[in-house]
Amino acid sequence: MKFVIVVGDGMADEPQARLGGRTPLQAAATPNADRIAGAGELGTVLTVPEGVAPGTDTAFFGIMGYDVKTQYTGRSPLEAAAMGIVLPNGHTAFRCNLVSVTPGVELINAHMLSHSGGQVGGRKGRDIMAWLNGQPRFSRRLRELDMTLYPGSAYRHIMTLGPKHSEPADAKHLRLTPPHEFLGEKVAAHLPEGGLADLVFEVAALANEILPDHPYNREKAQGEGLQANAVWLWGQGSRPQFMPWAEKFGVSGSVISAVPLVKGIGFLCGLSVVEVEGATGELDTDYDGKADAAIRALKGGDDFALVHVEAPDECSHNGDLFGKVEAVARFDAMLGRILRGLDSLDEGYRLLLLSDHCTMVRTRAHASGAVPYVLYDSGRDEGKVRTYDEKSAFEAGTALESAVQLVPRLLKGG
Ligand SMILES: [Zn+2]
Repeated sequence: MKFVIVVGDGMADEPQARLGGRTPLQAAATPNADRIAGAGELGTVLTVPEGVAPGTDTAFFGIMGYDVKTQYTGRSPLEAAAMGIVLPNGHTAFRCNLVSVTPGVELINAHMLSHSGGQVGGRKGRDIMAWLNGQPRFSRRLRELDMTLYPGSAYRHIMTLGPKHSEPADAKHLRLTPPHEFLGEKVAAHLPEGGLADLVFEVAALANEILPDHPYNREKAQGEGLQANAVWLWGQGSRPQFMPWAEKFGVSGSVISAVPLVKGIGFLCGLSVVEVEGATGELDTDYDGKADAAIRALKGGDDFALVHVEAPDECSHNGDLFGKVEAVARFDAMLGRILRGLDSLDEGYRLLLLSDHCTMVRTRAHASGAVPYVLYDSGRDEGKVRTYDEKSAFEAGTALESAVQLVPRLLKGG
């Protein structure tokens, strides 16, 4: 028996006037999802419990069988895991954005101009952070503070804090504003608060003193465009205590996704993370490559594969309604390729199809509420004619209060 989860990120949405009152899932051609919705169990599931912010990270806790309310410790430990950083107990991880602030003034008097360093490129962002890491003044101070900088890609990097001068509880009481939440506003109005606030701001201010000397920023200072001239720490947390899937469920498997958060959750579950060249997290991602990677992993002996596609969510955040419809259609074609691959194996399989959370094109933001799911068993056919969308799933009658029960049912049946 093989087991597969296929997630279309943020696919679920509300009816759209521009689609004649249909949702993107209703408007897109989804013959493969429709077929298994008719053959399998169709319903709605609350992937993120009430009172928890809907996000890919919080939704995936439930989808992977963990309780987000008791086990969630922040997003940066998940991103750190995706970068292969094994965060020891007692250490705290921070998301460290390479940002743009007003040049030529002290950080405290600057405005936050860009949370992405003026859209600094992947390799360039990494180079700038590696350079910062190599500046003696900066590296010496980080060592004294028991901190480590891990250059990632573009504007996304990780910093960790060891236990030398702090307790993990100090980091829990630290309040840090994500830089994308105060774009164009004064840094002084969004300073870190709580224990360790001074330490966090000192690191950001020191980076802001040094970064303008990087050749990339010197060049920007002479010409046009924003400098990547400061760092901003946020999203801190300790390593979540996950029982690995091998122990929890007795299965091995792979995770296929372009998104660091999802990869990190995969690592923490003890699953293999398969890199697919051409997986971009956007509309032009390599759908066939992802489907083929999943089938290859299953043929190679894995019991389980998770395939995650970010494109519908990305289009929603961009307010691109027709892009979202196209992303859903391409996602469905990928689902078809996965189903054909599974049908070519000599054994039965069960597949869970769902949207991790709703993302509204109207607000360009995630939203709470139940999402449609299908639990399909290749050995069963309900023989119904149904479509995979919000309305049809609601009418089917099965309304699960939590996603935590889905994986055990996927793996054990029933
Ligand atoms: Zn998501």
